Amino acid sequence: MDQFPAYVITEPGPAALTSVTEADLPDGDVTVDIAYSSLNFKDGLSVTGKGKIARRFPMTAGIDLAGTVAASDSPDWKPGDEVVLTGWGLSETHPGAYTTRQRVRSEWLVRRPESLSPARSMAIGTAGLTAMLCVLELEAHRVRPADGEVLVTGAAGGVGSVAVAILAGLGYDVVASTGRPETHEYLTSLGAKSFLDRTVLGGEVGRPLQPERWAGVVDTVGSSTLVNAIAQTKYRGTVAACGLAGGNDLPATVLPFILRGVRLIGVDSVMCPTEVRIEAWRRLGSDLPLDVLDTITTVRGFPEIPQLAEDILAGRVRGRVVIDVAGT
Ligand code: NAP
Repeated sequence: MDQFPAYVITEPGPAALTSVTEADLPDGDVTVDIAYSSLNFKDGLSVTGKGKIARRFPMTAGIDLAGTVAASDSPDWKPGDEVVLTGWGLSETHPGAYTTRQRVRSEWLVRRPESLSPARSMAIGTAGLTAMLCVLELEAHRVRPADGEVLVTGAAGGVGSVAVAILAGLGYDVVASTGRPETHEYLTSLGAKSFLDRTVLGGEVGRPLQPERWAGVVDTVGSSTLVNAIAQTKYRGTVAACGLAGGNDLPATVLPFILRGVRLIGVDSVMCPTEVRIEAWRRLGSDLPLDVLDTITTVRGFPEIPQLAEDILAGRVRGRVVIDVAGT
């Protein structure tokens, strides 16, 4: 019987490299041979066991996959189709992507944009999709490049790097907030115009209404960083909040919302509807220059996943990490 390597969590705690068989695969109507996956903050929490991501056991880790349909009971997909899947509860409620073959539900799949190779689609992955969902929200709330500076927090991370690159490419004046001065050159190459040290926004929560600076914000950090960013957002500006790298609390007042009409928009990539994903992937295929995407990306091997999981939680990962699953 065919065996596939997989990082599996069998009880609360870290994932272990083991083997699964075809008989172990979950319910679903499409089987995918996985070529590449990626590394996200949530994967770090899941693989190390430091966050309660898996809701049942055993659970294969990994939230993103790119691969080829191997078998399908769905009229929408046929063997040989090139697909990507991000979120939808992979590694939480449905076995995930850190394995070479997985069975999934057909409605979760998106056709891989032709302009993106499988590895590049995973260089985007959940983090890049989330960055684009944030940008789409800024656009939907009419934040225009001419309106002034746009802030990206956690800028050197996966979501942050892609957000900087997309926004700069669209002509926004991007200010990058980062705790790593050594990434300034990298962030400049992605298009960041200037920098804020992480501690400027991430220290104490300041006054509820601070001098207005930001036309828009993409926040991956949460907590005091998000609250101070909201307090500095211009009249009718928009803040897209998608992360909690600095904490999940929100010690804010309502004043920026009721006196400046600031809009705080939550962004979720996991259960995001398919039609929104398709549009986001279309925009990623057209708006993210491949040379810039390659600058953000490091490709690493399947055996390196446990160490990479520790690294991303410790803030040691820059940009996006692609996992070469098929090269195991
Ligand atoms: P990542 O690559 O680890 O990036 C996170 C960045 O946040 C780090 O690179 C660092 O940026 C900054 N950071 C880390 N610890 C911090 C701290 N204690 N205080 C302030 N800043 C800190 O992770 P990611 O995959 O981009 O994810 C970023 C966040 O978005 C995570 O919270 C993740 O859970 C969330 N997320 C949400 C969704 C969604 O659907 N809503 C999807 C993907 C990710 P600098 O080094 O530049 O300071």
